[in-house]
Amino acid sequence: MTPRPRAPDRLAGALVEGRAVLVRAVATSAACEEARLAHGTSPTATAALGRALTAALLLGSLLKGRQSVLLQWRGEGVLGPVVAEGRPDLTVRGYAGNPRADLPSRGGKLDVGGAVGCPGTLVVVKDLGLREPYVSTVPLRSGEMGEDLAYYLLTSEQIPSAVGLGVFVAPDRSVAAAGGLLVQALPGADEELTAQLAENMGRLGSITEVLRAGEGPEGLLARALEGIPFRPEQLGTPRFLCRCGPDRLDATLAALGPQEAQGLLDEEGEIRARCAFCAGEWRKASLEAEWERAGGKA
Ligand code: ZN
Repeated sequence: MTPRPRAPDRLAGALVEGRAVLVRAVATSAACEEARLAHGTSPTATAALGRALTAALLLGSLLKGRQSVLLQWRGEGVLGPVVAEGRPDLTVRGYAGNPRADLPSRGGKLDVGGAVGCPGTLVVVKDLGLREPYVSTVPLRSGEMGEDLAYYLLTSEQIPSAVGLGVFVAPDRSVAAAGGLLVQALPGADEELTAQLAENMGRLGSITEVLRAGEGPEGLLARALEGIPFRPEQLGTPRFLCRCGPDRLDATLAALGPQEAQGLLDEEGEIRARCAFCAGEWRKASLEAEWERAGGKA
């Protein structure tokens, strides 16, 4: 297949009249590539982090206002924790604990399940703007991430769901295609509908093949909803974006206390801070000085 330029990232939904189903499809190649460049991930880490970011984007898109969802895969594999946070404005950020760790591919595919590593847990933290965030933990099913998330949605949120996530890493280690699909049977879904959805998902095949063929998120919607009339709906552009910056760094320093902070300054000559989510680095030459970006990706 001749390489195509990456299509812009897009989230699409489906308007399905009179049927209790929610479907969202997203292309996230550009956001996943940004994450790869920020963190310098190995191919397997690129795939795992990309799947996590895509999953956080899909779930984050269902929230409102300042709410957020944080997904943490905590397995026993070489990557350490794989973490992603999504928001309703379609920004995502995330990281892998050991971004440079890698595994040999299995059956011609990047071994995401092995690199995440079962047994383990998926921890979901939903900040809905209430006093306490909602935290839920489920055991990993396979570490392949889509299946783990579907299991969380069924057991913790009682929503029968199918989740497809895919990241295709090119030989030059860049992200050639990435995206995902979320299908949920809502309360009131009849048996005929759920059977049709399950059959469609069984036939879906590879998410990234659909995207690499240039069909976009609509191609994924059309496959998920085959035999069910729908209208696609454009929901916006996902972005890999972190909100770390002077305000948060000052809050962290304040929590440390002025004596500790001054101690660090005396010892090191400056205070350095690194954001796990975007690998952004910041420094400050005195307690009164402004934070400056010292490296890493914004
Ligand atoms: Zn950051």
